[in-house]
Amino acid sequence: MKVLVPIKRVVDYNVKVRAKSDETGPDLANVKMAINPFCEIAVEEAVRLKESETAQEVIAVSIGSNACQEQLRTALALGADRAILVETELEVEPLGVAKLLKAVVEKEQPDLIILGKQAIDDDSNQTGQMLASLLSYAQGTFASEIKIEDDKIDVTREVDGGLQTVSLNLPAVVTTDLRLNEPRYASLPNIMKAKKKPLDTLTPEELNVDASPRIETLKVSPPPERAAGVIVESVDELVEKLKNEAKVIT
Ligand code: AMP
Repeated sequence: MKVLVPIKRVVDYNVKVRAKSDETGPDLANVKMAINPFCEIAVEEAVRLKESETAQEVIAVSIGSNACQEQLRTALALGADRAILVETELEVEPLGVAKLLKAVVEKEQPDLIILGKQAIDDDSNQTGQMLASLLSYAQGTFASEIKIEDDKIDVTREVDGGLQTVSLNLPAVVTTDLRLNEPRYASLPNIMKAKKKPLDTLTPEELNVDASPRIETLKVSPPPERAAGVIVESVDELVEKLKNEAKVIT
């Protein structure tokens, strides 16, 4: 069984992102970048499938600039066998990513594609669903547990107020939720080994995919600043302010 894991390079989740002063986008100058956390969970799950001998090969794929090689090397250090960079300077939106991934799937013929449920930069939560649809594959989104038997995969999904388990025919698309697993850290020897693992580069042109954007970002602005709090002298004063200033009680 072959597993394909699409990973996205995003701003590290510990970084407080600021908007550029001209509000054209987030300010990414000198900001620490990392693998999207949900994609890290996807890599971990694929590597566990390999360790349990359910999968034989794990391929990490990323779409973006040459800098994505850094995150692909991390995926290789975490246990992926090889990596593919689809190199483009375009800001590719979920439909473009899904079309490019479809072309990679047609080339590589994986049995399972495990994506993150969402990328923490754009919070789109669209790519896995679009990819499944373009491929006409079954999809199990927001997985908190997966079990593979023969040519089927059972996906337990986190839904409002409970869990739902669905059975999909392989090949299939799965997207990861937070509780699927706890990703490991890459060890130093594995980081060294990862430098020698194969990383191939393709372009959207080679895959014959037009990934040009259809959405134009008009403005990115920070949330309004919170006004400073006030200390009230008494409960009566608090009630008076809630009534007449904040107007949240009558
Ligand atoms: P999104 O739909 O943008 O929230 O992203 C959901 C998932 O799609 C991510 O967790 C990744 O697994 C995958 N994905 C999105 N963008 C990319 C990209 N540029 N390269 C590789 N995978 C991506």
